[in-house]
Amino acid sequence: MLLSLLTMHVTFMQLGGPEKVSEITGRRGMLVRAASGKGVTYQARNTKDVTMEMVNMHEKQLFMDGKKLVAIISEAGSAGVSLQADRRATNQKRRVHLTLELPWSADRAIQQFGRTHRSNQASAPEYRLLFTNLGGERRFASIVAKRLASLGALTQGDRRAGPSLSAYNYDSAYGKRALVVMYKGIMEQDSLPVVPPGCSSEKLETIQDFIVKAKAALVSVGIVRDTVLANGKDSGKLSGRIVDSDMHDVGRFLNRILGLPPDIQNRLFELFISILDLLIQNARIEGNLDSGIVDIKANVIELQGTPKTVHEDQMSGASTVLFTFTLDRGVTWESASTMLDEKQKDGLSSANDGFYESRREWLGRRHFILAFESSASGMYKIVRPAVGESIREMTLSELKNKYRKLSSLEKARSGWEDEYEVSSKQCMHGPNCKLGDYCQTGRRIQEVNVLGGIILPVWGTIEKALSKQARQSHKRLRVVRIETTADNRRIVGLLVPNAAVESVLQELGWVQDIDD
Ligand SMILES: [Zn+2]
Repeated sequence: MLLSLLTMHVTFMQLGGPEKVSEITGRRGMLVRAASGKGVTYQARNTKDVTMEMVNMHEKQLFMDGKKLVAIISEAGSAGVSLQADRRATNQKRRVHLTLELPWSADRAIQQFGRTHRSNQASAPEYRLLFTNLGGERRFASIVAKRLASLGALTQGDRRAGPSLSAYNYDSAYGKRALVVMYKGIMEQDSLPVVPPGCSSEKLETIQDFIVKAKAALVSVGIVRDTVLANGKDSGKLSGRIVDSDMHDVGRFLNRILGLPPDIQNRLFELFISILDLLIQNARIEGNLDSGIVDIKANVIELQGTPKTVHEDQMSGASTVLFTFTLDRGVTWESASTMLDEKQKDGLSSANDGFYESRREWLGRRHFILAFESSASGMYKIVRPAVGESIREMTLSELKNKYRKLSSLEKARSGWEDEYEVSSKQCMHGPNCKLGDYCQTGRRIQEVNVLGGIILPVWGTIEKALSKQARQSHKRLRVVRIETTADNRRIVGLLVPNAAVESVLQELGWVQDIDD
């Protein structure tokens, strides 16, 4: 915190001080060198004409009016402030947006970039990310850059936008868990799950040496407290404790290590990242990580009607477009039985492969599935008439617990075909589903809405519209990739839950086309 305040102040003065620079921050005043050159005096930011409450708005106006050509904003002062090259402002010069210190979450970084990138702008800003070579900053900047590139990808079609986005927010649940694991390892309460950077698993003394250095570093920045130097056989060994509130505070860790010498700073950061990567990788294997870009798959994907332009960036002429797709996820009886036949012909089939019926009735219906052993032996792939192959595989015991194998192909066929037919009209909960038409569970034919084209200028608006959604799963912004099956038209964009389409369009101020 101190470091960033200092950086800000030095930059502020070097650019010409209060005469030349609009300051939009949370600070109330500053120390200024006295005219005599001796000593410093405190100077409040406000004057008798402008109250402290209004000083940021006033400073913003001076910048937008072109009276000052440089603005410095801090996260604390910038809530709700827009500084884009607005067509209604006197100052329509192209903005160059420099970041001195990137926030630790990509979402917050994107929000900051949004300060200078809004609709109705005469030109789009140029972003410059400034960072040092130190582990923390460099790694993070590359992630933000990747994320920006992925948003760019939204405007230029697909460029395979790299790894998971949200997972790389260090201050996430995974980040907090990684921090605890690392601290416990350094405090020797638990072993570290990875070999620390610069150490070798064959030379345990290198790891021991790292732990001693890391512990001393954490002591020096005040994260490890109440240290005691042991006597006797553990002579020279430091022990201490990390208070509970620090144990989970990723922001504090990342800020505090910035004060350490580069070598140990980089090693601590690398260690934190490798533990985080490990946790994320494990979560992904277990299938409970919500990864960055989700592929929407179905046997048939068609574009419904003409995509609607819902927003236009006046400068570039690029537009935000709403695409509505119809998906058929179903598997016909013919394709299901062909799947099984081919498995058997290849000699790859196991004795448990085949059609099954659920042991229990669910809302008056039994459900039919095709199961066959996957490449991971002991696990079974499940194909359903309404929604196709499921992502989750089943163990043999779960399969046998919930389903009974059918020996009669005729019975399997009629059950399968019936379920295939019914699921085209209703969700799994039947005609009286409480969620009504929006419910997609088990529905074979689905409508999917995706916002494509230029996304960054409307990101905040969409975020706001989704935050008002009732269901938790509808509040999150999700980037999806979808491809039509007949003509391979590929769209990458933001998924808009069906229940939210109306409010998103409202927020975007979309008026129905006249010729509609
Ligand atoms: Zn339902």
